[in-house]
Amino acid sequence: MNYISTRGDTTPRGFCDILLEGLAPDGGLYLPERYPKVDAATLGRWRSLPYAELAFEILSLYIADIPPADLRRLGEATYTEAVFGTPQITPLTRLDEGLYLQGLSNGPTLAFKDMAMQLLGNLFEYELARRGEQLNILGATSGDTGSAAEYAMRGKQGVRVFMLSPHGRMSPFQQAQMFSLQDANIHNIAVEGVFDDCQDIVKAVSNDLDFKRRYSIGTVNSINWARLLAQVVYYFAGYFQATRSDHEVVSFAVPSGNFGNICAGHVARMMGLPIRRLVLATNENDVLDEFFRTGTYRVRATAETHETSSPSMDISKASNFERFVFDLLGRNAARTAELFGPALARDGGFTLAAAEFAPAASYGFVSGRSSHADRLATIRDTWQRHGVMIDTHTADGLKVALAHRAPGETMIVLETALPAKFAATIIEATGVAPKPPAALEGIENLPRRYTVMAPEVDTVKRFVAMHCA
Ligand SMILES: *Cc1c(COP(=O)(O)O)cnc(C)c1O
Repeated sequence: MNYISTRGDTTPRGFCDILLEGLAPDGGLYLPERYPKVDAATLGRWRSLPYAELAFEILSLYIADIPPADLRRLGEATYTEAVFGTPQITPLTRLDEGLYLQGLSNGPTLAFKDMAMQLLGNLFEYELARRGEQLNILGATSGDTGSAAEYAMRGKQGVRVFMLSPHGRMSPFQQAQMFSLQDANIHNIAVEGVFDDCQDIVKAVSNDLDFKRRYSIGTVNSINWARLLAQVVYYFAGYFQATRSDHEVVSFAVPSGNFGNICAGHVARMMGLPIRRLVLATNENDVLDEFFRTGTYRVRATAETHETSSPSMDISKASNFERFVFDLLGRNAARTAELFGPALARDGGFTLAAAEFAPAASYGFVSGRSSHADRLATIRDTWQRHGVMIDTHTADGLKVALAHRAPGETMIVLETALPAKFAATIIEATGVAPKPPAALEGIENLPRRYTVMAPEVDTVKRFVAMHCA
């Protein structure tokens, strides 16, 4: 399988060629040149497989440049009960007849990003060893992504992580999670500033191409194809748990920000998984809901981006969205480049022609938005009626799922974080404090390892250089 860019670069590249890269050289995103189709016989064969085996089968369809025995071993090392808490890895919880939560947040950082990031850590280590190379991951985080990356890369050969976070601004739990890591290859840099300062520093360092090359600087952001591919697996796993035969059709509801999670659902559907609808849920930052209702994609300014109680969905633009639009336009790379190229920054968005937007429904997408009040009501209701505590992001998904659900429609709502991560809102909704998993109790009292730094590009560069020697 080769990979192409959404903006037209068709240089043949294998999976491992794009594994360690971000954007394609033409500024587009990588996609497989076609989606492998899965027939009924294959679905039948996959239905009873353990998660790691299922992951191997799906990854194999997209990865031709890692020997199968190695790929199988990487999958088995990643998706274990020890790391994800249950033998199912992504277990379903039944709320009502035909209504389920799929638990994607039982990994080390209690959010669904672990599902992909844990595999990425093993893939990076494998590929870097094979090439005899090293990689220094530089990133900025306001919480979830940074900790998922650190827990995936800790102790890995050939990889170092330098993670910038705004000093004193992450939640106490998030700080404890990241700063208690004692691994020599993990470096936490607490920047005296806000998240945007951290991100500006990362951009400035990455734009210094000399420095970038000299110190092998890389990233692990959400546009990475390997992350998306890893997420395709749990749509299959959820489907098999919710159904008894491969004639049944299900829908998924997905709390969305950068369109990474739901884009994996789109890929699963394109492969032939019987998905009726993909229900996209946003919070008050409703860029994507607006698009699926109107065909207009309007990037929000910083001042227009709300800080909400489902903060991992507080986005101004959706970095994976270009992948879907490319497919929606019949894979017209020239038109995709026109929409997402310099014009997007200049005009702040685009409106698709009616004929371009019309097929969106045939891809199964519907959408809706949820507010803080909706979130509270959904968390409270789920707690009172089912005795199940859900986090704020999952609540957005469930709220929009219920608004769209047709009678008899099997609906799987993806649970993207555990409530313990967002305790304040859970207490506001239910009056009850969510319990963190036993393994994380007392994490606030562990010794911490981090470096406080002024928001200066050169200071960060010096620190990176010093620790790369
Ligand atoms: C990242 C994240 C999301 C949004 O996922 P996207 O792939 O960006 O759409 C939703 N919920 C939680 C808890 C997250 O961490």
